[in-house]
Amino acid sequence: MSIRKSLTILRSFALLVMLSLAACQTAAPTSTSEPYQEGPDIFDSAWGEREVFRANLVPSEQGVLDELPGATEYRIELTIAEDFDRIHGHEAVLFTNQEDTPLDAVYFRLYPNVTGGRLTISNMTVDGEEVETKLEAYDSSLRVQLPERLEPNASIVVDLDFEVEIPRVMGDYYGLFGYFEDVMVLDTFYPMIPVYDDEGWNAAVPQINGDLTYNDAAFYLVQVHSPAEVVVVASGIRLQRTVAGDIQTLTFANGPARDFYLAASERFTVISEKVGDTTINSYAFPEWKENSRVVLQSSANALRSFNSRFGTYPYSEMDLMSTPMLALGIEYPGAMGIALRMYDPEEIIGGLPSQVYVESTVAHEVAHQWFYNMVGNDQPDEPWLDEALAQYATGLYYQDTYGSSAAESYRASWQSRWDRVDGADIPIGLPAGEYEGSEYGAIVYGRGPIFISELADTMGIDAFDDFIKTYAQEFKWDIGTGETFKRLAEEKCDCDLSLLFEAWVYP
Ligand SMILES: [Zn+2]
Repeated sequence: MSIRKSLTILRSFALLVMLSLAACQTAAPTSTSEPYQEGPDIFDSAWGEREVFRANLVPSEQGVLDELPGATEYRIELTIAEDFDRIHGHEAVLFTNQEDTPLDAVYFRLYPNVTGGRLTISNMTVDGEEVETKLEAYDSSLRVQLPERLEPNASIVVDLDFEVEIPRVMGDYYGLFGYFEDVMVLDTFYPMIPVYDDEGWNAAVPQINGDLTYNDAAFYLVQVHSPAEVVVVASGIRLQRTVAGDIQTLTFANGPARDFYLAASERFTVISEKVGDTTINSYAFPEWKENSRVVLQSSANALRSFNSRFGTYPYSEMDLMSTPMLALGIEYPGAMGIALRMYDPEEIIGGLPSQVYVESTVAHEVAHQWFYNMVGNDQPDEPWLDEALAQYATGLYYQDTYGSSAAESYRASWQSRWDRVDGADIPIGLPAGEYEGSEYGAIVYGRGPIFISELADTMGIDAFDDFIKTYAQEFKWDIGTGETFKRLAEEKCDCDLSLLFEAWVYP
């Protein structure tokens, strides 16, 4: 534990009380004319202190605050420039070695260097000492040599400044990172520590298909300074908003979570609905109110369906926003981007009205809150594990919301996807980068959920439903793998599934 802890514990208690009080008062959006208050200093917050994250979780999920003592903690302060061209940031990270082997280095992923922007780091220290660093994997990874070996269960504090250049031209990486069409989308924009596992640090060159990250669940306190008129939507819950002149300061608590995401626009308007203990917010431009309502309604139905099938959604808030992108949707912890072009009711996608795609996309992204965020997985190396499950869950959404015949017609889309590669029996379990051209979408999103259906048929639907819920609960805030998925399924059906997995999943 860092020496900072003892130095700051008293001040932190005061901060905590202040933040907790603020959390109760943030339900309604506040106007820019409110009196100036100074934002709390997040860097004064004690490491290991979890109380500040309580408001981010629904009551039944707050037990996790006592269960992840070694989780990485991020404190990030961001200043967004008025023209959205760049971000200046300061980051302090508490990292604990949770492996049973000593570490002589840690890695940070610097994804903007391969997604069309530029992320540079300066003034990096580890426990106050300057360190040697080396850029690797096309500058998407930074190796940080530790001053001394980090033994199991020992912690370090990494401190750094960073600057991010924001792309203005869409083209790289599905258009998920940049400032386009009046919206700033900050996908994987800050220096983040990847998973260390039996293969070592997951710091390889990003693959061309699919999602980039493979992260452990962590805790984030983030403070954002931005022009006051911008609506900033982010992972986690907003604890406080203060305004000084033209600048607002927003403080977010996010965690446990595998990432922190932020989208901002002067043009966002919000509609909301409460499901259980969770408030769902749908953000869109005012002219796209109609489909924003479809997004809200679909996400509420998805939440009801998945809460009962997989276990309760953990957060008190769920945000969906219309963001420009080349994909249909994208998932982040507690926040999801839905393609802006689909909010135009006149838009035709693949021969169908956009509304059809809005609904299935929303259900798919909401399912990722269980399969990717709550249960993590190696997204680059085993993309089927979260994507095929999110597709399969979308079928359950139609089943639960509209009944069997709607579910059947949605499920037919899996076969149509697979048909894009003529139903080739390419394994669904390959790393994302090993699929060529249209194979990735056709196999992982088409053949993948058909395999999950086959698995359900083989196990029997009751055993399968029990298995999926147990998988979601047993590996919650942990990592699932294809191997553990298979082992648990076999346990639940008391059967050998090797032949089925060989036929569908593995080469
Ligand atoms: Zn997905």
